[in-house]
Amino acid sequence: MEEITIHEFDFDLINEFFTELERQGPGSPEETIRALSFIGNLSNKTKIADLGCGTGFQTIVLAQNTEATITALDLYAGSIDKLNATAGKLGLQNRVKGIVGSMDNLPFQNDEFDLIWSEGAIANIGFEKGLNHWKSFLKKDGYIAVTYESWFTDKRPTEIEKWWLDAVPEIGTIGHNISIMQKTGYIPVAAFTLPENCWIDNYFIPQKARQEEFLKKHAGNKTVEDMIAFMRREADLYSKYKQYYGYVFYIGKKM
Ligand code: SAM
Repeated sequence: MEEITIHEFDFDLINEFFTELERQGPGSPEETIRALSFIGNLSNKTKIADLGCGTGFQTIVLAQNTEATITALDLYAGSIDKLNATAGKLGLQNRVKGIVGSMDNLPFQNDEFDLIWSEGAIANIGFEKGLNHWKSFLKKDGYIAVTYESWFTDKRPTEIEKWWLDAVPEIGTIGHNISIMQKTGYIPVAAFTLPENCWIDNYFIPQKARQEEFLKKHAGNKTVEDMIAFMRREADLYSKYKQYYGYVFYIGKKM
């Protein structure tokens, strides 16, 4: 039987599900701060772009751990409304601005940013294409920090390989991704894997109650039932195969 892939679900439906959760992808404040520790020359003049920010959990962590001005961009307007409301509540509206836009057609000036951030989102444009496109908006010596799905081993069982090749066709090993970073004009500064709690405690466990609620709200909707089944399978596959893959934070400096 052919398995359904994530691309077959409606973008609005996926986002309606996820915007009620704190995060829309694996990660944690600790790992965002760890990645930030590799970035040089941060000051109150620093300009950051956070691409595919979702409701902006990591955007707020960046704002609270720097004095930078941050433009956070996402394609889904509901997430941006939520981020701007959170920034307002926290008194960060002067330094954090969420805007609706697409990461493959950025509304920015060349050399505008000191740092481009993106957690769990670069696969939407493609790792190599994203690194290439985003580079022009970075100043020379500016930094990029992205998390991206990566293989931890050269070989892995067919079941998990097929799942990820459907979801992210260009998924590669950490070494391969570092070489792409170098090829696209960045000096690799650091790469580290996200620990399991980023997936389990901050991504899969919070989904459980939302899945029940969503199934009730959309009772009888076959697409919703398939989407929730897909999410549950994603969690099962992670517990079965987590030694083979995960998110890796890649940090580079524009040459
Ligand atoms: N960075 C957030 C986090 O880690 O919680 C969200 C990650 S979520 C897995 C991926 C995000 O990318 C979603 O919010 C989605 O709306 C956004 N996205 C997908 N395609 C996009 C595009 N072409 N341009 C901008 N954002 C996009």
